[in-house]
Amino acid sequence: MITLDTPVTYPGPLPAQADVVVIGGGVIGVCAALYAARAGHRVVLLEKGRVAAEQSSRNWGWIRQQGRDPDELPIMVEANKLWHELSAQTNVDIGLRQTGTTYLATTDAHMKGYADWLPAAYENGLDSKILSAQEVAAQFPDMRTAGIKGALVTPSDLRAEPWVAVPALAAIAARDGVQIVENCAVRMLDIAAGRVVGVITEAGRIAAPEVVLAGGAWSSLFLRNHGISIPQLSVRENVAATEPLPNIHDGAATTRKVAFRRRADGGYTLAPPGAPELFVGPDAVRAFPKYLAQLRAAPFGQRLLPFAPKGFPDAWGTARRWDAEQTTPFEAMRILDPAPNTRKLEKLLRDFQQLFPGLPPVRLQAAWAGMIDTMPDLVPVVDRVTTMPGLTIGTGMSGHGFGIGPAMGRVLAALATGGDVGHDLQRFRMSRFTDGSPMRPGPNV
Ligand SMILES: Cc1cc2nc3c(=O)[nH]c(=O)nc-3n(C[C@H](O)[C@H](O)[C@H](O)COP(=O)(O)OP(=O)(O)OC[C@H]3O[C@@H](n4cnc5c(N)ncnc54)[C@H](O)[C@@H]3O)c2cc1C
Repeated sequence: MITLDTPVTYPGPLPAQADVVVIGGGVIGVCAALYAARAGHRVVLLEKGRVAAEQSSRNWGWIRQQGRDPDELPIMVEANKLWHELSAQTNVDIGLRQTGTTYLATTDAHMKGYADWLPAAYENGLDSKILSAQEVAAQFPDMRTAGIKGALVTPSDLRAEPWVAVPALAAIAARDGVQIVENCAVRMLDIAAGRVVGVITEAGRIAAPEVVLAGGAWSSLFLRNHGISIPQLSVRENVAATEPLPNIHDGAATTRKVAFRRRADGGYTLAPPGAPELFVGPDAVRAFPKYLAQLRAAPFGQRLLPFAPKGFPDAWGTARRWDAEQTTPFEAMRILDPAPNTRKLEKLLRDFQQLFPGLPPVRLQAAWAGMIDTMPDLVPVVDRVTTMPGLTIGTGMSGHGFGIGPAMGRVLAALATGGDVGHDLQRFRMSRFTDGSPMRPGPNV
């Protein structure tokens, strides 16, 4: 786990100028900075806490093309390729392995959902396929397969260890010229004559004609202070890491009850799939109408909790307005570190043990939670802000930004600097929330 006790790798100093400032040292910001620097720009990456300390080190480590929204798929196929390239460019073993993703179905409706998604996979050249119940039993000989109807599998999907991988990507970015500064919150955009001219940080100003916001769970709060509204909320997801176990499956797989992924140390990272917990705050109340389509599609998909802990982005007491002289919510909480829901994780361990009854007693090595930046349609905002020239947003990855990170970063770098984005970004435009478009929720795992 990356915490405030983790030594600062990038202390500064803060440069006075840059071509591009990137806000947020998660996988998206790190990769945007990396590819902007490779395109020849002077880039500064600012992180209020530590690189990858929030979602980007807390995720399951699945790098999956499988099950993606069709409009994300071409970008994800590129990301898969970039992961292979980047892994070869670091001198660290980031745990990248091609071990596939498997979704296990217990109903005919799940199987139909898989079949409906396959054409998009084939259009993008993927090796995804449906397995019969017998084929599942052969591939998972230690699993209780009673009730399993079949599976969807994508053998070319990858896995990696997020807490190693994203800091390793940051090291590549630094090597390629990105000036990274940790412990440095961006308080506000610096604006002159209606356009971005830089950022104002807790340690001073940086002049820059282009700013990329990749602030994860904090992005909508940051934007609101500038009068820019996106209906991004954050939801808690819980994770358990087991001690090393015999190898019952080398890749990532999920039933409706338990998602599991073998780690490089021989343990499994477990989570209850599709069980987000939403702390209701003012932003959630405001954004509620936009989330109706998602709620209708999965009426029991979210658990609502009445108050976010103090200092969280959508806590009732969190400041919504500030100026450049004031300490902001970003400095007040350098690392968003929600307590995990231990009752849920105890049940999860039991579910995993029941799924693989032959395993020795499954013991917990670590447990944590992360706040996912979610959107009403479960796809991100990747766009330039028309009302604020110089600002590009890459946020709201909705629980699947780790895998797609390298390519989303490359796309954002191109978007901010006038390069070739290489993909159709219509689905990710910011105006979809205001132009009367119906919300069309993408797949949720
Ligand atoms: C439990 C869990 C499981 C997941 N599993 C997967 C998975 O298996 N596969 C997958 O593809 N995705 C997964 N995800 C999602 C994935 O982790 C995220 O989509 C991805 O990490 C988002 O990256 P990001 O850079 O946008 O945000 P983050 O990683 O959250 O980074 C944003 C950064 O911005 C910084 N910041 C914010 N505001 C400021 C400011 N004003 N100044 C300076 N810095 C600021 C924050 O401190 C933070 O470090 C999971 C997420 C969670 C929580």
